[in-house]
Amino acid sequence: MAISKLYYSQPRLRELETRIVSQREQGDKHLVVLAETIFYPTGGGQPHDLGTINGVPLLDVFEEGGTVYHVLPQPLTGGEAFAVLNWERRFDHMQQHSGQHLFSAVFQDEYGYKTESFHLGEEYCSIDITAPLLSPEEQLGAEKRANELILEDLPVSTYTLQPEEFDSVPLRKVPDLPGPLRIVEIQGFDYSPCSGTHVERTGQIGLLKLLKAEKYKGMTRVYFLCGQRAWEDYRRKHEICTSLVSLLAVPEAELEERIRSELERKKETEKLLEELTAELIQFRAQKLVSEGQSPYYLELPGISVAEAQQLARAMLNLTPGAVVINLGERLVLTHNLPQGPHLGQLVKEQAQPLGGRGGGSPTAAQVFFAHPHQLQQFLALLPREIWEKTAE
Ligand SMILES: [Zn+2]
Repeated sequence: MAISKLYYSQPRLRELETRIVSQREQGDKHLVVLAETIFYPTGGGQPHDLGTINGVPLLDVFEEGGTVYHVLPQPLTGGEAFAVLNWERRFDHMQQHSGQHLFSAVFQDEYGYKTESFHLGEEYCSIDITAPLLSPEEQLGAEKRANELILEDLPVSTYTLQPEEFDSVPLRKVPDLPGPLRIVEIQGFDYSPCSGTHVERTGQIGLLKLLKAEKYKGMTRVYFLCGQRAWEDYRRKHEICTSLVSLLAVPEAELEERIRSELERKKETEKLLEELTAELIQFRAQKLVSEGQSPYYLELPGISVAEAQQLARAMLNLTPGAVVINLGERLVLTHNLPQGPHLGQLVKEQAQPLGGRGGGSPTAAQVFFAHPHQLQQFLALLPREIWEKTAE
C-alpha cells in the first residue's frame, strides 16, 4: 500500500499540506496529482470523498494505475496544496461500509447466506444475499445480532496479507487477484478483503437498522442504514409519527388501529354516498323526463362523465328517446331508439373531422372537444330530425 494514500494510514486525517506533483486538462476539468492525499477515490463499493484543494471544490476522485487523480473545475496555481476533507461525508461512508461488513458477516455466520454485492449510495445502502427468501424472524435476528456486536465495540483493524499468508486467517472470501490483499478485520469475527475506509471500533457504527428485504434475481436485497443515517431516519419517522398522533388525537400505541378504523369508515361513507347519488340521479331523471321531451339536451358542466352516463341511462329506463348531456368540453350521447343513429359511427364520421376525440357503441358514445366552437359545430349537426326521422 503506497505511503501517499493517507486515507489508509491515517483515516481520521481531515486536513493536509502537501505538494502538487502534476496537473493536466481533460475536457473542461483539471486532473491534479498530489504528493500524498487524504481523499479516497471511488472503489470497492465505496464512493469517492469530497472536499477542497486550495479552496477549489473537488468534483471527483478516482484511481488509475495506482495513481489518485483529483478532479477539479479549475487549475491550481503554485506548487503547494492545502487539502480539506469533507469529513461528514467520509465518516458516513465509513459507518455504512463497516456496518455492511458486520451485517454481511452476521448473515453468513447465523444463517449461511453469502453477500454477492453491496451498494453504498446517497439514497440507500443494500446488500444482495444468497437467501431465496428472508423470514421476518431472520431479519429481526440479524439486525439484533449486528447491534449486539456494535455494542461490544470490537476493534476494526486493517493489514496486508501476502498470498502465502492467506491461510493464516479465516478469510470471508479470497478474490481472484494476484498479489497481496488488504484485509479489514472485525476482531476475531470477520476477515474481509477490502479497499475501503472503516471505523476503528464497531461502536462507531452507532446503530444498524434493517429497512426492508425484497426478492431480487433469486436472492434477497436487504436495505439498511447505519450511524447518522439511521438516526436521521429515526428522527424523520418520529416526526411523522408525532404529527399523526396530534392529528388524530390518539396515543401512539393506538395509531395503527385508529387509521384502520378511519379507513373503514371512509369506505362505508363512500358506499353510502354512492347509494345516495344513485337515488338522487333517479329523482332527477324522473323530473327531467316528466318536464321535457326527447331528444333531451342538458347542460350539466358540474357533473362527472360517469354521473352523466348514469343519469342518461336512468332517463331512458323511463322513456324511449335520446339524451345529449353537455359537460362543458365533453358530450355524452345516448338513445334507446331501435331505429336511432349509430352513435359511435356518428362521432367518428361527424365529430372527429371537427377535432373531436371519442367514440362509442350504437346506443352510447362520448366525445371531447378542446375548443368550445368545435363542440357547438357538432351540436349543430344534431337537429331534432336526426333522432326523429329514423325513430318510430
Ligand atoms: Zn468492504
